[in-house]
Amino acid sequence: MNETSHLAATPWEKSEGTCTCCGRTSKTIWGDLSQDNTALAVYFVQWTVESSDHNPNFDFVLGPWGEGTLAENRVLVSLLFKPAADGGAFMIIDAEERLKAKRSICGRAMLRCEVVGTRFADEVFRLVDALWLTDPRMSEVQALNNGI
Ligand SMILES: [Zn+2]
Repeated sequence: MNETSHLAATPWEKSEGTCTCCGRTSKTIWGDLSQDNTALAVYFVQWTVESSDHNPNFDFVLGPWGEGTLAENRVLVSLLFKPAADGGAFMIIDAEERLKAKRSICGRAMLRCEVVGTRFADEVFRLVDALWLTDPRMSEVQALNNGI
């Protein structure tokens, strides 16, 4: 049995704004990733429309979610997506700069060096894969690969 088959994204909301650096439209979508009715992470994906010099941000808040759980027991992991004609690639980054807007829902931001090469990274990439395959809104981010 494929473990990943139970892990799926549930889209919540989306918003649109203006990129502070270039004035182009920036989009944010969010939702949760759950396995067997247990939420493993809440994710936020933010990208700037028609902008090859901006890499989309993927932020995951991992840990216990739901009634009786505490924000301080969750961590933020952030990745950049680098579009490419062959499908693109994800890179784990220091999450600190992404923490500001999410301070109320997680205890701390993970550094790249705390994640890369660990079992925790395997879990993060399992979530990334599930998000990529099961949130239909990812098609807009996936389409960036064709613009390179
Ligand atoms: Zn910009």
